[in-house]
Amino acid sequence: MDGSAIVQFGSFPPGTLTGFAEVWAADFPRGPGLYLNLYSVAAVLAVYLAWIRIFGWMDRDARAHRLNRYVWNQLGLLGCILGFLAFWVVPWFAFAFAALLLLTGTPLVAYLIRRNSVVPDADRLFTERHLRGLLNRYFRTRLRVPKPALTHEVALLLKPGEERKDSGPPRIQDVEKSAGYDLALRILCEAYDRAAPIFQIEPLRDQARIRLRIDGVFQEHERLPRLQAESALRVFKRLADLNLDEHRKPQHGNFAVELDGRRIDLDVQSSGNLAGERLTVRIRDRRRKLPSLDDLDLRESLGRLLRFPNGLLVIAGPPDSGKTTLGYACLHDVLRQQRRAATVERDIEYHLDHAQQFALGNDPLQGIGGIRQRLFGSEPPEVILLDVPLDEALTEQVYEAASHSLILLIVEAEDLVSGLDELRRVGLSSARLAKKLVGGVGTRLIRLLCAECKVYYKPNPEVLQRLNLSADRVERLARPPEGAELIHEEDGSVKRCPSCRGIGFRGRRGLYEVLAMTERLREGLRDDPDAESLRQLAILSGMKPVETAALDLVTAGLTSVAEMLSLFHHDAKPMPLALPADSTRIPQPQPA
Ligand SMILES: [Zn+2]
Repeated sequence: MDGSAIVQFGSFPPGTLTGFAEVWAADFPRGPGLYLNLYSVAAVLAVYLAWIRIFGWMDRDARAHRLNRYVWNQLGLLGCILGFLAFWVVPWFAFAFAALLLLTGTPLVAYLIRRNSVVPDADRLFTERHLRGLLNRYFRTRLRVPKPALTHEVALLLKPGEERKDSGPPRIQDVEKSAGYDLALRILCEAYDRAAPIFQIEPLRDQARIRLRIDGVFQEHERLPRLQAESALRVFKRLADLNLDEHRKPQHGNFAVELDGRRIDLDVQSSGNLAGERLTVRIRDRRRKLPSLDDLDLRESLGRLLRFPNGLLVIAGPPDSGKTTLGYACLHDVLRQQRRAATVERDIEYHLDHAQQFALGNDPLQGIGGIRQRLFGSEPPEVILLDVPLDEALTEQVYEAASHSLILLIVEAEDLVSGLDELRRVGLSSARLAKKLVGGVGTRLIRLLCAECKVYYKPNPEVLQRLNLSADRVERLARPPEGAELIHEEDGSVKRCPSCRGIGFRGRRGLYEVLAMTERLREGLRDDPDAESLRQLAILSGMKPVETAALDLVTAGLTSVAEMLSLFHHDAKPMPLALPADSTRIPQPQPA
């Protein structure tokens, strides 16, 4: 072979394998000269480097979107090997290079199609929106980027005093043009979709995290670059008419939106510290469907008490225990009996069609003065739901009113007996309670284990003993997966259960203790018992404490021992809940 000839990649004559044989058979050294076409080499090298970069991105992206990285990496590698093999075999450069691009690129195209089918609209790649965004970013063009589709139709509502002009009042015009507007709406829709009553934007070092309160516990929803999160934060502040320049002092405000035609009220709170500014938004859907007494399984026990023409019915529970929902379920039942009803609260939680509703604002004791006559005057409502802090003067009036109306009194307390004790402290003595009390209900909400990922185990007999359960009756208990029971990705990260997103719990259930006034209780109250004796008296009068209801859920495998303990004994020491997991875990299907 002529030593000065340029041997191009793929420049063998037809009948490739013969071509190979000739080239390889040629004697070495072949003499001086350049055997490779540098342009071809550069092109192939560029493909190879691009492949490394793109498939590195694909690996990270697949992990972020919980797609099977393993399969996509294998496909990517296979495409690369086949591509270079084809390039090596096909004799004409143009065809060989096309084959290389086609084979290495196919897995990428397949991945993009699959990826775009699982991510939200806003994150899809190579859509018109994405391409316009790229052009604007890299070529400083000013193309209009269409807004990402939201899961709901959102419209900002006017505040009292604002007028709808051509394109709304300045407050709304400003934010609709601002940078964080789309993000703010997306966060709102996502919180609404996951039934989170509260969401937060919380600053971290150079990021911020969005937290959603789900089933009473804040969960991290996502992390965002800090500047981006702050732009959304400013949108919420502007909508709630807060001072944008104040980043530290606590501020409160509110605004309303229409979500798919449904009015949603949003309470916005901002405050700041050294870490930065934090925003908490409470979502109130005052028209959402309320549970009935039947839904709460309280028809039999509580329904009877709501038939009383007058008297005092106490609804007690700690914060976030479903007291208000329960109060409204009672009121719903009362309205079905065609009785005239009223609600008195700091802020109206739900809108009822056939009841008078009074909101007292931030100074409820002051506010109630103005409506005393309408509540307790000459023609009072037959049933009054009262959710305001009590002072002695108000207690006195409640006591009087309980002679002619049925008063549903919401009291913040650990349980029903503590609630009654609290009433005694503000002036409703034991003797007065004995006269006017028709009964009461204590409420708690307990989280239920996620049915998809809970793990059954054989409980330690010592634990059963401490829970007053017999080992014969309870064969297995359940808890969220932990340690080796969690499913891990190849990179060591934990694969989150799709049903509960790795929380281990999904949904809550109400636990109730219902007490009806009995002769025995009335007698007992005359002795002015202390809290502990009152508790014993209530149990003797037929009250089944919430702890018992919680224990029933534990033995049924619906919630965990730890969840129950955290609800009732905040200072409880962790106890050995199971024998070593390997020996006692009961095998069961794992989530895919
Ligand atoms: Zn789960």
